[in-house]
Amino acid sequence: MGFVWLFRYPPILWAWRTVRLKPAQTWAQQLLRWKHSEGGPYKAVIFDMGGVLIPSPSTVAAEWEVQNRIPSGTIIKALVAGGDKGPWLKFMRGEMMVEEFLQAFGMQCSEMIKSPVPVDSFFSLLTSRQVAQQFSVMTEAINRIRAEGLKTAVLSNNFYLPNGESFLPLDRKQFDVVVESCLEGMCKPDPRIYKMCLQRLQVEPTEAIFLDDLGHNLKAAAQLGIHTIKVNDAENALKELETFLGFPLRKIIPNTRSVRKTMEIPRDSLEKYLRNLLGSQAAGPVEVLQFSHGQSNPTYSIRLASHHLVLRKKPPGKLLPSAHAVEREFRIMKALQDAGVPVPKVLDLCEDPSIIGTPFYLMEYCLGQIYKEASLPGMEPSQRKAIYTAMNRVLGQLHSVDIKAAGLEDYGKHGDYIQRQVQTWTKQYRTTETGTIPAMERLIEWLPQHLPKAQKTTVVHGDFRLDNLIFNPEKAEVLAILDWELSTLGDPLSDVAYSCLAHYLPSDFPIIKGLSDLDITQLGIPTAEEYFRMYCRHMEIPEADNWNFYMAFSFFRVAAILQGVYKRSLRGQSSSATAEQSGKLAEFMSNLAWDFAVKEGFRIFKRIPTTRLSTRSYCHWAHRRPLLIPSGARSWATFSKASQAATSKGVLIISPEALSEPVRDLHHRLERFMETHVYPIEQELRNYQMSEARWTPPPQIEELKEKAKSEGLWNLFLPVETDPEKKYGAGLTNLEYAHLCELMGKSLYAPEIFNCSAPDTGNMELLVRYGTEEQKTRWLLPLLEGKIRSCFAMTEPQVASSDATNIESSIREEQGVYILNGHKWWISGILDPRCQLCVFMGKTDPHAPRHQQQSVLLVPMDTPGIKVIRPLSLYGLEDPPGSLSVSAGGHGEVLFENVQVPKDHMVLGPGRGFEIAQGRLGPGRIHHCMRLIGYSERTLTLMKERVKSRVAFGKPLAEQGTILADIARSRADIDQARLLVLKAAHLMDVAGNKAAALDIAMIKMVAPTMAQRVIDRAIQAFGAAGLNNDSPLAQFFSWARALRLADGPDEVHRTTVAKMELKR
Ligand SMILES: Cc1cc2nc3c(=O)[nH]c(=O)nc-3n(C[C@H](O)[C@H](O)[C@H](O)COP(=O)(O)OP(=O)(O)OC[C@H]3O[C@@H](n4cnc5c(N)ncnc54)[C@H](O)[C@@H]3O)c2cc1C
Repeated sequence: MGFVWLFRYPPILWAWRTVRLKPAQTWAQQLLRWKHSEGGPYKAVIFDMGGVLIPSPSTVAAEWEVQNRIPSGTIIKALVAGGDKGPWLKFMRGEMMVEEFLQAFGMQCSEMIKSPVPVDSFFSLLTSRQVAQQFSVMTEAINRIRAEGLKTAVLSNNFYLPNGESFLPLDRKQFDVVVESCLEGMCKPDPRIYKMCLQRLQVEPTEAIFLDDLGHNLKAAAQLGIHTIKVNDAENALKELETFLGFPLRKIIPNTRSVRKTMEIPRDSLEKYLRNLLGSQAAGPVEVLQFSHGQSNPTYSIRLASHHLVLRKKPPGKLLPSAHAVEREFRIMKALQDAGVPVPKVLDLCEDPSIIGTPFYLMEYCLGQIYKEASLPGMEPSQRKAIYTAMNRVLGQLHSVDIKAAGLEDYGKHGDYIQRQVQTWTKQYRTTETGTIPAMERLIEWLPQHLPKAQKTTVVHGDFRLDNLIFNPEKAEVLAILDWELSTLGDPLSDVAYSCLAHYLPSDFPIIKGLSDLDITQLGIPTAEEYFRMYCRHMEIPEADNWNFYMAFSFFRVAAILQGVYKRSLRGQSSSATAEQSGKLAEFMSNLAWDFAVKEGFRIFKRIPTTRLSTRSYCHWAHRRPLLIPSGARSWATFSKASQAATSKGVLIISPEALSEPVRDLHHRLERFMETHVYPIEQELRNYQMSEARWTPPPQIEELKEKAKSEGLWNLFLPVETDPEKKYGAGLTNLEYAHLCELMGKSLYAPEIFNCSAPDTGNMELLVRYGTEEQKTRWLLPLLEGKIRSCFAMTEPQVASSDATNIESSIREEQGVYILNGHKWWISGILDPRCQLCVFMGKTDPHAPRHQQQSVLLVPMDTPGIKVIRPLSLYGLEDPPGSLSVSAGGHGEVLFENVQVPKDHMVLGPGRGFEIAQGRLGPGRIHHCMRLIGYSERTLTLMKERVKSRVAFGKPLAEQGTILADIARSRADIDQARLLVLKAAHLMDVAGNKAAALDIAMIKMVAPTMAQRVIDRAIQAFGAAGLNNDSPLAQFFSWARALRLADGPDEVHRTTVAKMELKR
């Protein structure tokens, strides 16, 4: 099963049909000379640059001298004059830079002819783009040499340009080794430089061939035992090289090579067969070359007399019955040919394995133009548009074939194509899975639930893209559609979506050069939406509104295939670089697929009539597959069920009842824990906070922490996005955690009990994301175990710290350590005796660009020089340890005086502080908002209880109009804010923190003021009792108020929202 193009990167080896091939008149004679190259004595070809790959300096000089009326030969004479000590060779050895060389060289030339010589202009010409271009015959030859498995090198006497780089107007990727004299400090004919080149190529001198235009360079190479070729003109040199190598280098059929040893086909019986087929005029030897691709179904270029054919056969050996179905390919092409669809003309299917060992079929070699790059470089916008229109039309033509009339009714199953495909690729993915790719998990859930309702059945190509089409070189007309390996009967829109993949890939993408970063409208290329619409218009069908689904499906399929490539490469079948890359690409593709799923989700969401909105109508998810912790990975979350739980990405779940079963269970147990253990001791804890013992962490909290841990209610905060393998956390989504965090927010003491309180949560996330393994072992693990606590030190009294670029504390590097100096305040948790780690932000480079001045250091709290000056009070409260959900352990004012820390305490690296602060404030940013919903909900509950039992002026307060109005307002306020918080969490899950920036800013702007209003109304309804510490209201109020600053001032969030809104 196919997608051969994906299995072959890099480099992408393009298929057997090719570009503007002119029939080679001399092929039959040449053929006699070629012998098989595999196993030949040569392993590498080394090229000189000037005079071999690009014009020689002497040729350029000769022309320049004529144009500038300089006596002929002046430049060359001057170049060799002075020998080893002359300016030219010094320049070549990198001992002189351009200016110095030109000055010395200019003087030398001028003295020679006794008149000024403008050597600058010669140098400019020599290095100009129009002159310094690689000969195309050489490019073709190098490609061929590499296709045959030989190594290539360039060994050049070379020099530096004024910009400090060496002069190398060649594509380095063509060479395994590049040796330049100016970089090595030695020149040809110095034998050492040849030896260096051979060493880097890892070949013996007798295994290499060297091409140069200068005799003395060749002589030195020959003395070492290297075979040499003198290059006077490129064509003749290549002819000589061909005889050495034993395979053709010129006028070749692109992307072909001599037949691999294991892929040989018996020539005699093939020749006999061809003569029978083609008639008696097919005389002469048969030329067989192999197309570079086709590991799946080997494909050959066959030339006999005036015939040029393509032969495609099954691979040798035992095969699965349905695999490598060349018979199917022949059948579909034959049927389509008869139905008028442009395909290469098929000639014969030979099912008799005795001819060449396996069944095969033959088709005519199709001459035309293939466009490999989706951007169609070098074309006018109108031409590009015409090409895409032709592509769109031919697809329509294919999908319009009457399958009954074409005899293709049994070519595939009818109906449910997408469903079957999703199942197939899911199965395929599961068998090659190497770790959890979150987006794939979501897609595997999402795709089956959003299958298109109505699917047409037509012939589908299965791999329809621009570079599978041969175009008429003169006009925008498709001459043939190629590569039918994946064709079947199915939903035609899948082909339409698949042909738009390049639209969403960047132009430097390793598999295919995409279009996503180009202005395609300016290029004249239709957008994917326009392309879809164009198709629907051509086909006269209603415009498909669910094309995002089809895009999601297409990218999902590609991701599954890439995962297969990755798995195989891990088994050692590819280079490690390829392996690593394909692994990343699978994830990249699945993320793209998920982006489309999200867009489709929003489209469906917008179309749901408002009257139908209910909790469950948001939730389309069910029966999710457990996400297992990979074996060997240690989970620091003690919630075992959550570890296996679903990550409910893709739906906005607005009520805990709609959570997946394991998370709902977690919610339920958390709620019970709060009711059984936390609310009952709140009053005791409030009293403790005001006692003498208050700076010692309350023992009740320590006890409950152990209990929570043992019940699996621990470290629930770390989002699956940060910790996809759930090594450290419970693997919940932000949305799932939002429901749990709201619950914890109902008590100011709860977050610490579940190891989910600030600032530890933010610091732990910082360490998971950016910490080194050593940093994680030293700090993250004890934090995850709840053994130590930490603080985050950014704010400074002397500057407006809402603008973090103002931070002035300095971090200076001196004698292998960092020295910190600064004055910080409002550092929450620093007074807690368990606080052992201070995450410190300061400036390493005040002169760097604004956002690269700051760095983050991990500072052990017992480092000399840290002086806590005083605790700061908040509305008169000191906020001692164990107390509050915002933070714990008091807010300190601190001096850092010449505090020394080792250099490996830096996080990420100097200047990365801003980046880290943004990351730290990722999910952690919205936890306060989640908890504020919890404060408010608890407050409203307390208020309702109070007003029902309290009687004033003859009736319960609950019957007073103003109280009723306040309750109504609070209910609406809380629900509005909660929806916004859940939406922000959901967006962070499905679209990422960056895409959710607006929603994050909105909730930070909304949640604290909302909570403050709700709590204020409740305090009012409580009367004076609302102000003392007999209820949590007073503390709730002060925290809600503080959070309008602590989490960034309201104004800053409002500014963010307004600016983003104005840009929309
Ligand atoms: C309870 C609590 C806990 C805290 N914990 C920590 C901690 O652990 N670590 C830490 O480093 N810091 C902590 N802080 C400090 C907090 O982060 C800062 O107070 C906050 O960033 C604001 O900085 P600032 O106080 O210097 O106010 P300033 O930057 O001086 O701002 C003062 C006021 O200026 C106005 N303003 C500022 N910018 C704008 C704007 N763009 N548009 C309009 N008006 C504007 C606003 O009204 C703002 O309130 C905490 C604060 C509190 C209250």
